Order: sequence, then structure tokens, then C-alpha cells
Amino acid sequence: MSHNGKDVSASELDVMRHSAAHVLAKAVQKLYPGSKLAIGPVIENGFYYDMDIPARVSEDDLPRIEQAMREIVAAGEPFKREEWTKQRALEHYSSEQDNPFKREIIEEVPDTEPLSFYWTGSDWVDLCRGPHVTDASKIGPFKLLNIAGAYWRGDEKRPMLQRIYGTVWQNQDQLEHYLWQLEDARQRDHRRIGKELGLFAFSDLVGPGLPLWLPKGATIRRELERWVTDLELARGYQHVITPDVAKVEMYRVSGHWEHYKDSMFPVMQAGDEQQLVLRPMNCPHHIQIYQHDQRSYRELPLRLAEFGTMWRYEKSGELSGLSRVRRMDLNDAHIFCTPEQIESEIIGVVELIEHVYGVLGITDHWYRLSLWDPSDAGAGGKYVNNPEMWERGERYLKDAMARLGLAYVEAPGEAAFYGPKIDVQLRDPLGHSETISTIQVDFHLPSQFGLEYVGEDGQFHRPVMIHRGVIGTLVRMIAYLIEKYAGAFPVWLAPVQAVVIPIADRHLAYAQSVASALRERAFRVEVDSRREKMQAKIRDAQAQQVPYMLVVGDRDQQAGTVSVRERRQGDLGAQPLATFLATLEDQRTNKTR
Ligand SMILES: [Zn+2]
Ligand SMILES: [Zn+2]
Repeated sequence: MSHNGKDVSASELDVMRHSAAHVLAKAVQKLYPGSKLAIGPVIENGFYYDMDIPARVSEDDLPRIEQAMREIVAAGEPFKREEWTKQRALEHYSSEQDNPFKREIIEEVPDTEPLSFYWTGSDWVDLCRGPHVTDASKIGPFKLLNIAGAYWRGDEKRPMLQRIYGTVWQNQDQLEHYLWQLEDARQRDHRRIGKELGLFAFSDLVGPGLPLWLPKGATIRRELERWVTDLELARGYQHVITPDVAKVEMYRVSGHWEHYKDSMFPVMQAGDEQQLVLRPMNCPHHIQIYQHDQRSYRELPLRLAEFGTMWRYEKSGELSGLSRVRRMDLNDAHIFCTPEQIESEIIGVVELIEHVYGVLGITDHWYRLSLWDPSDAGAGGKYVNNPEMWERGERYLKDAMARLGLAYVEAPGEAAFYGPKIDVQLRDPLGHSETISTIQVDFHLPSQFGLEYVGEDGQFHRPVMIHRGVIGTLVRMIAYLIEKYAGAFPVWLAPVQAVVIPIADRHLAYAQSVASALRERAFRVEVDSRREKMQAKIRDAQAQQVPYMLVVGDRDQQAGTVSVRERRQGDLGAQPLATFLATLEDQRTNKTR
């Protein structure tokens, strides 16, 4: 909640949400006398309030707090604005209420600036910028969602407060829809599913943000990597392998040192003179491959690709499951080309992205043209200061999008430090957009490294670089796919494609032979030989989202059949093993879902 005197325009819903934060604070102070209020802002879909409450509040207490809020709403308590001097405000938070948090906020305001306070009813007041509803009955249907710890001002050296989250909507339908969405997102959460399906893990000894891929998660990665590599090879990309570290010197040349150092790991002192650092991006390494030889126009476009490992020093508080990590593998490529080739190269990349998304079943993506922000350029700024270069890059991207007939939205301040880019935006289950695939046009790095090629005219020319990622980083794409499929990966990606379930011990040998037949064709299969009831085995395979369960008993053993259960369709009946193998082969090849 901010301090300064002026009302700001806000949507009706935000006004309701913010007013609900006050009602929450009033209710908490009534139920827990002596609670000290810190801040209570509006956030996406709702609000929270951070408070120093002299009791440990749990989720079980939320209904009671909601009830107290409802009483304030039912009474239609009016919101009234008042301007106080800084002195009066400080007095209020020293004598009437001892509140060091509000005092700290107020101390930061210039002495002459009046502070606005809002009354809720005639007996409760809070420092606030507003605006608010005229009275509490104007607040739409709401619900408190959860409670969490939060440090005052996000600083772990300062007091830990209790943060209560709530949501407010214009009508009951919207509220219920949102609560359904939240539950759906919880069910799909990649951290939860990743654990249930045994895809990845973290270890305290390895460190935060450094995922360990378990065999099943590694399988999904490997399948994606093989598939995309093959698509790239078929489109004239050449795959290379380069190291995760380089001398700091290289990043001084590239400009990463100037513009990207904050996201890099600390430098390693190797021997007396060498300073090495983990790479935050793969581009400079690929540039070294380009420079390893004299290049001719005949070699262009030169498309160098790699599932390159990158290291980013994200703050530990920002790490989250697979979506924010410190080590990632990017489906990276750098296309070195002539200016005349830029447009067709961009088009080729967009077509590859569209193909890949089609196979993965991604249909709700949209394009964003990410541009620089001239006010954040130059020494110490985020962007290279070269307006002419930025304009040129932007023009190429726009022309290519026009040729493709694709719509896009422009986003200033979202470019890479060296050039504008097209970002392909996806939505997570809660509707937040995230970037997975990108295409960037870059004139900067070729000039930093003095790249050249010999043209048709026998003269030296400077190539242009296109940086692109199709499935982006494997961590992000897999986190996205886990949530999209809710763990039910299509056959070609499923870590286990079939489980063979012998009905009794005497069918174990036949079950093993069925499994061998699948394995011979490179299918991923398990035999569930546990001494459990068949129904329990089916339930477990179903919970693991295994596409097929092959139940085998006396009759199957005699006839050389398998009784097929599909995870969604259920029992498909007995069929000859060869028939099942042909179906599976077909689904793998065509990547059907
Ligand atoms: Zn307020
Ligand atoms: Zn790059």
C-alpha cells in the first residue's frame, strides 16, 4: 500500500480487491488484538495482507476470518478518505497503535506531503493511497485462499510476517470458475506430478535450482532431444558440441560481461592467469566455431545447433521446480547468414516451431515482438546503445511476420541485450504467459567478434546472426508439457509405454516374453511381478499414467494374445501380440496422442 496522496485510476475489480484487503486486516485485528499491519497490495486475481499477528494462524482459521469479513461487508461499512500530516500519522502509529512497519513507510515520505488514510466504518483506519469502494457491501464475492510466511520487505534479515491471500470477483460464477482453475492448476503442477511420476528430484547436497533427472524424466528429455535434433538435421542444421565454461575474456568481447554479469555464476580462478566462468548463453562458443575457419558465401546460411548447457545464477528465493533453475539445456542454434537470407531463415524457423507445436498439440500460442527500451541502453544498461541497429533488426522481424501473415503484439523492454526477437508465448494453467521459443536477429555479436565471410565479389563481408530456440530449454518445455498433459504423456514420450500384468505367478514367464518382444522393438515396458492383486496393479499403472496395461492370464498364454487396457478407454479386449505391436508402432511413429 503506497503512501502518497493522489488517487490512481484502477479497475473496478482492483478497487474491490484492495478494499477487501482492508476488510481482511480489520477482521484480523478484531479476532487477534495487537496484530500489526504491514502492507496489503492488490495482486493478479486478488490481494494479500502481510501482518504481524500475535498467534500462529493456520488454514483452519481462515473460515473464521472470512466470517468476520462477511459481517463487515453485510453491515456495508463506509470507506472514507482523510488526509493527515506526516506528524499525525507517525503519532497514530506510535501511541494509538504501536506499528513499526507503518512508521517505516511513513518515514520515507517527504515531510510536506500529506498522507491519505481510509476509514472502514467509524472505528478502524489504515494508511492507504486508495481508491476504495464507497462502502464494504460493494465488494464482490471473495474467498481467503491460503496463508504463508513473508519477510518484511522481502528481506530475510527482517521480521517474518504472516501473509494471508484472498481472491475477489465480480460475481459468484467468476469466483467459482477461478477456484476451479486454481484446483486444476494444483492438480497439474509439474512439481507435484514430477514427484508422483518420478521424473526429477532435487538434492540438498547438489544445491538448489539444480535438478536431477531420474530415469523416467531423462527418457522424456532424450526423446524430445532426439526428435528435434532429427528435425534440425533434415533442415540443414549441423550439430556441434561445445564446453560449459570459457574465459571471462570471451564475455568481455561479447558484451555479456557488461550487460549480463548479474545473471552469471561467480568466476573461477584457474591457475595464475586464467579466469573461467560458466556460460550463461551458448552464442559466443558457436561464434568461435564460425571463426575457426575462413568462411565463404557458399557456406551460408551456416546453421550451428546444440542442446547447449547454460548456467544462470538465479537468486535462491526465485528458484521454483523446473520453471526457475540454475542449469538448463537450450535447444539452441545460431544461423550465420547474409542480410538477404535473414527473411527466409526467420520464416524457416517459424515453420519449424509451428511443426513442433503441432506435434505436441500446442495450439493456444501467440507471437510477441520483443523490442529494446532506449531509456535502458548504454553503459550499465540492459541494451546495446545503437538505435540504427535496433531499427534494422526490428524491420527484418516485422517483414518476416508480414510474409507469414502472423499477428503479433509488440513488447518494448523485452528484447535480448544485443537484438530484438520474436517470442512465442504460451499460457500455463493459470493463464500466465511464458516464453519458450524465440528467434532473434543480431548484428551486434558479429561486429563484436569481427565476423567475416568472403562474398561472391571476393571481398570480406559481415554476416548476420540469428539466434533461435525451438523447444527452448528442456526444463521449461518439460515443465510446460507435464502441466499441459497433466502427466499423461503421449505414447512416443511416455517414460513407460506399457506395463505387462501377469494375473498369477504361473503367467510370469509369458509376461516376460511379451515384454521382451516389446523391448526388441525398442519400446519401454515393465513387468509388474509384485504379489499384488491384478486390480491393484492396474490402479497403480493407471496412476502412473502408463498408456497401456497388458493383462496376461491362462487364455492369453495359450493363444499368444494380450488383454489390452488403455489408460483412457479402459478394457479393449484380447488381441494377438502382433496386432498390439503394430498399433503401438503406428502411434509411436505418428506421434499420436
Ligand atoms: Zn487501501
Ligand atoms: Zn545465442
